[in-house]
Amino acid sequence: MQFLIDATGSPALAWALVIAIALVVLIAIALWVRASARTRPGEPAVARKGLDLQLARAREGLLGRLREAVSGASGAELFSNLEEVLVTADFGLDTTSALLKKVKEKDAGAEHVDEALREAILEIFDRVQRPFEPTAKPTVIMVVGINGVGKTTSIGKVAAHFSRQGRTVLLGAGDTFRAAAIEQLGIWAERSGSDIVKGQPEGDPAAVCFDAVKAGQARGVDLVICDTAGRLHTKSNLMEELKKVKRVMAKALPEAPHEIWLVVDATTGQNAMQQARLFHEAVGLTGLVMTKLDGTAKGGTLVGMVRELDVPVRFIGVGETIDDLRPFDPRAYVEAILGEE
Ligand code: GDP
Repeated sequence: MQFLIDATGSPALAWALVIAIALVVLIAIALWVRASARTRPGEPAVARKGLDLQLARAREGLLGRLREAVSGASGAELFSNLEEVLVTADFGLDTTSALLKKVKEKDAGAEHVDEALREAILEIFDRVQRPFEPTAKPTVIMVVGINGVGKTTSIGKVAAHFSRQGRTVLLGAGDTFRAAAIEQLGIWAERSGSDIVKGQPEGDPAAVCFDAVKAGQARGVDLVICDTAGRLHTKSNLMEELKKVKRVMAKALPEAPHEIWLVVDATTGQNAMQQARLFHEAVGLTGLVMTKLDGTAKGGTLVGMVRELDVPVRFIGVGETIDDLRPFDPRAYVEAILGEE
């Protein structure tokens, strides 16, 4: 202290300096504690940070534009600006109107528009989302989606996710129309420690899925995950082929498939929405997996899809590696695309 008094030339100045340093240290500790508290119990800080980082592009785009659009605006102008932001973020016209209506009802004013929007989006998810528990043994999941959306990669990541939980997984290489898809699924089976049932390239996909379900039953695995074609070489209709695969799986096990998940690519926006409608109409979806959320500012597609189809989101893909998959958590998602609560 004497040193400080000597250095500053005044006891009052020396004390002011000590208090200022103490304040800076206290603020740093408070910030650290706050950042740690944002990590949910049971969730590694790294994973949380990872999701935030990987979805940062979506957030920067959406929240930034939202704040800009509403700042200084009020009344009709505020809602028209907000509408534009939501449409550009691919919420879709119907969902945008539904969200605007909710935000208006909440009568939030410009400073609280993002909060009202966050609540309105969570209401959509909360109505539909149910936790997924593979209780049947085996639980059979048929995975559908067009080529290139990340279907094979997602099946591999989902298999790894359940393997890590100590569940046994068997993959069915039902995309017999692409030799590369069979090979790629084989690699993912190895990576995720899963069994695999393959057929011949160009073979009957329904027969492969039938065999996979039977093998899953015989081996007593917890989950059978069946890949399917995303495009056919012939002119025959993909949806008819998928309906057939579904029917044939039920011959192997009457309750199968317990789940039918559609994989969609977030970067394709309203195209993904269109695909979801078609697949849902054809085979009846029970879950969605949205990939490539790490590379898009269009986080709204997912919200529109859930609202329109009443189908829960099971997982989201946030990168190309085996760990870049997250079980869908609506709160974490909304927080990641709209910023902190
Ligand atoms: P499929 O034709 O639907 O089976 O698609 P693939 O699984 O082969 O994936 C197509 C491409 O998308 C590959 O390069 C994958 O690495 C990539 N991919 C899949 N999921 C994600 C994701 O969540 N994020 C990113 N950035 N790329 C992904």
